[in-house]
Amino acid sequence: MGYKVVLDSTEIKFSACHFLKEPNQCSRLHGHNYYVSVEISDDLNENYFVVDFIDLKEKLVSIIKPMDHYILIPTQSSDLTIREDEDSIEIIASNKRYVFPRADVLFLPLPATTSELLAKYIHGKLKELLKNKEITVKVGESKSTMAIYEA
Ligand SMILES: [Zn+2]
Repeated sequence: MGYKVVLDSTEIKFSACHFLKEPNQCSRLHGHNYYVSVEISDDLNENYFVVDFIDLKEKLVSIIKPMDHYILIPTQSSDLTIREDEDSIEIIASNKRYVFPRADVLFLPLPATTSELLAKYIHGKLKELLKNKEITVKVGESKSTMAIYEA
């Protein structure tokens, strides 16, 4: 057992919209305020920190800010056909066709935009910035639901 720090603030969030494959209400375009919190485990550094909280918050915000107020589209989905025009994106999802302004879309290299995969995506980005640390990322899309990825 070692040290762990937790960064969990209602300020750390992004708002985005998406749709999922499943054949219920989540397959319709809808949005969430995604709350993101992280836990970092490691030995203490020379300043007796696991990690500097201010630095950790800045790194996390730098990852999620580019996701804020976008339509999240998973580029690795085998269920979507994505066509890019100069200023628009056309998405074919089974029997639906969406056309979005290019500027409103954020492509993510994921098979789907579930909270689980968003947690893994954010984890991967944070791991690049905090190598050698054990990181847990939690993504909550409502007060009662949260997905966790840790490694
Ligand atoms: Zn959703």
